[in-house]
Amino acid sequence: MIPTILPTYNRAPMAFQKGEGAWLTATDGRRFLDFGAGIAVNSLGHANPALVKALTDQAQAVWHVSNLYQIPAQKRLADQLVEHTFADTVFFTNSGTEACELAVKMARKHFYDAGQPERTDIITFAGSFHGRSSAGIAAAGSEKMTKGFGPLLPGFVHLDFGDHDALTEAAKFPTVAAILIEPVQGEGGIRPVPDQCLKGLRDLADEHGILLIFDEVQCGVGRTGKLFAHEWAGITPDIMMVAKGIGGGFPLGAVLATERAANGMTAGTHGSTYGGNPLGCAVGNAVMDIVADPAFLAEVNRKAGLLRQKLEGLVAAHPDVFTGVRGSGLMLGLMCKATNTDIVKAGYDAGILTVPAADNVIRLLPPLNLTDNEIVKAVDLLDQAAEQVASDG
Ligand SMILES: *Cc1c(COP(=O)(O)O)cnc(C)c1O
Repeated sequence: MIPTILPTYNRAPMAFQKGEGAWLTATDGRRFLDFGAGIAVNSLGHANPALVKALTDQAQAVWHVSNLYQIPAQKRLADQLVEHTFADTVFFTNSGTEACELAVKMARKHFYDAGQPERTDIITFAGSFHGRSSAGIAAAGSEKMTKGFGPLLPGFVHLDFGDHDALTEAAKFPTVAAILIEPVQGEGGIRPVPDQCLKGLRDLADEHGILLIFDEVQCGVGRTGKLFAHEWAGITPDIMMVAKGIGGGFPLGAVLATERAANGMTAGTHGSTYGGNPLGCAVGNAVMDIVADPAFLAEVNRKAGLLRQKLEGLVAAHPDVFTGVRGSGLMLGLMCKATNTDIVKAGYDAGILTVPAADNVIRLLPPLNLTDNEIVKAVDLLDQAAEQVASDG
């Protein structure tokens, strides 16, 4: 018999009754150090007092009014995002995949209104992940996500990750509207796009008059030690998708864009009942108030350096289990020699939560405000997990 919950997830056999900072307590009393953070969502840890206050204060005032009216918290969050980024304008969604939908629509509408309706293609890359909507799976294009769900939304051109020649050729086609890329691939196995490649993408887009869309749903909002990951490369996109960390655990996403890229999106062309609702935006503002502070980001970088250094030591101590570390800031991947899911399971036994990714990688996505002691503890627990996997293997 089919479970009452549609069985699209293979769930680990634990549930949690309480979270505090980087820690989760399971219903059976076990404690776990949470280095998955709900897949890069709980950017400021569990039950963060500032976020709890923002949400409960808003909950006692107004939950929902719809976008038929002014929403002050939404305006403030849009202003904050515009102030701190390349963007001139913001649309709020409830998730990353909804942000992908709008990013694609916006790019196509831009060219339609510019008298180039043939420009509809979006260039994407193998190993990418843009959500599970029809546009999201068509964008990623992998068999794992698309098989059986055809006909797929047309207009996506899939290239290998890092194939510069194919990209240079594909960008020349007069049907291309945009290039869509994660500055650091998340689900694909924590694969950063080198800074010089992001710069090259910007140049290529400019050369052909096409739009550059960054999917920073996983790598954005302080995760890499900059407010947004592309800042490391010193370039900006035309459109950017945000979600996960911006809500700190409350469902919230956004599409940020320049005025030029967004110029087709006039009244009535897009909408969302819940997007930008007062609750989500109240929390989003509280997250931005903390994360956009340069002093906070400096601490993220310092902690990221400490974690990375300790992980290099872990890898060196377990050459039969791990082969290396990659990633950026507090978005790190342990490349595995043993099977990544076995190590994740051994982590559960040791008391640490991590997230598997493609390419036999384990993702480490701790809350950005974790302590140095928690970093030391995490590497100790990963060491125990590695010992167990080595002795089982
Ligand atoms: C998680 C993710 C998405 C999809 O976000 P949802 O909120 O699950 O819809 C899109 N892009 C990237 C890079 C992601 O990591």
